[in-house]
Amino acid sequence: MIDRRAAGAILTIDLDALASNWRRLADRLAPSGTECAGVVKADGYGLGVAPVARTLHAAGCRTFFVAQISEGIALRAALAERPAAVFVLCGLLPGTADLFAAHRLAPALSTPEQIAEWRGLSAELRAALPAPALHLDTGMRRLGLTAAEAESLLADPTALADIAPATVMTHLACADEPEHPLNAEQYDLFARLHAALPGVRGSWANSSGVFLDGAAAFEQARPGVALYGVNPTPHLPNPMAPVVRLEAPILQVRRIDAAESVGYGASHVMAAGSRVATVGVGYADGFSRALSNRGYGVLAGTRVPIVGRVSMDLTTLDVTRVPASEARPGAMIQLIGPDMPIDEVAAHAGTIAYELLTQLGRRYHRVYV
Ligand code: PLP
Repeated sequence: MIDRRAAGAILTIDLDALASNWRRLADRLAPSGTECAGVVKADGYGLGVAPVARTLHAAGCRTFFVAQISEGIALRAALAERPAAVFVLCGLLPGTADLFAAHRLAPALSTPEQIAEWRGLSAELRAALPAPALHLDTGMRRLGLTAAEAESLLADPTALADIAPATVMTHLACADEPEHPLNAEQYDLFARLHAALPGVRGSWANSSGVFLDGAAAFEQARPGVALYGVNPTPHLPNPMAPVVRLEAPILQVRRIDAAESVGYGASHVMAAGSRVATVGVGYADGFSRALSNRGYGVLAGTRVPIVGRVSMDLTTLDVTRVPASEARPGAMIQLIGPDMPIDEVAAHAGTIAYELLTQLGRRYHRVYV
């Protein structure tokens, strides 16, 4: 952990908000008996898998998903003896079954080759492994068994008995666009294949999917980004609580006497009489260079535009509208947080909040509250 005095900025992660976001989604799913799992890949979406997973577990989450085997190993260590199922989305890569067994990780079997790998395991290894998931591709066309591959598997009772999946899952491509026709197509195909696997838990919805009608039809949902405060319903107000707050102290305030440019490339010209503040955050911290002359900070309740280019370690903001008594060295500028929602920052940067979260820098002083 980086000492507060040694860091350019402070990243506060609100674990109570994380827990309340999980409960909000779990409560929404509860009437249909649908379980709320938690997706904690990419180091808990950049927020630290250990505190994130322990918080979700304490809130009641018992099933977790990660992308890679190394993440599953880290998650299992973080959860220690806490009872939890851990699924690894990359699936059973050749020669890795012993890692899955040693750390009680369940693979999401995603290709015919992975199914062959599973079926080729020794009886001893198979017995040591938790029941896998079957990952079906119903429209994302990224990873998962095609409909034809799934149908030929379903027609082979020996193969199914050999695999004995606990879960059958699919991933939605357009859940954040509720009217997109692919949602219904994915629902129909998944519902049909799931119906052919009685007793196997169906896992359909991601964060945005939880807000689609289809989520209630299955036994499990797998939200990720909404847990971390990102809006799963971009067309509506955000129902989630903000989890991340990024604040940086002002290093310097400079008064501009005659029209002058600021920063690399002289890309912005400050008017005479304006004031520019510099904070110690830059693209090396994952604070995207795409925010140059586009994004905002919030100082003393006032939005202050980013002016000039975001550089590696420094960002400059026009604080002319904030009284000099407030815009002074040491005052904190909020760059992401309740007053500067991460979805809005992502829009200014021309990206998605997922990317901002997972790129959050390693130089911040991190505080978990
Ligand atoms: N399921 C799978 C297979 C994923 O890849 C992801 C994340 O990309 C999720 C669930 C969670 O999605 P979201 O973060 O949009 O809730």
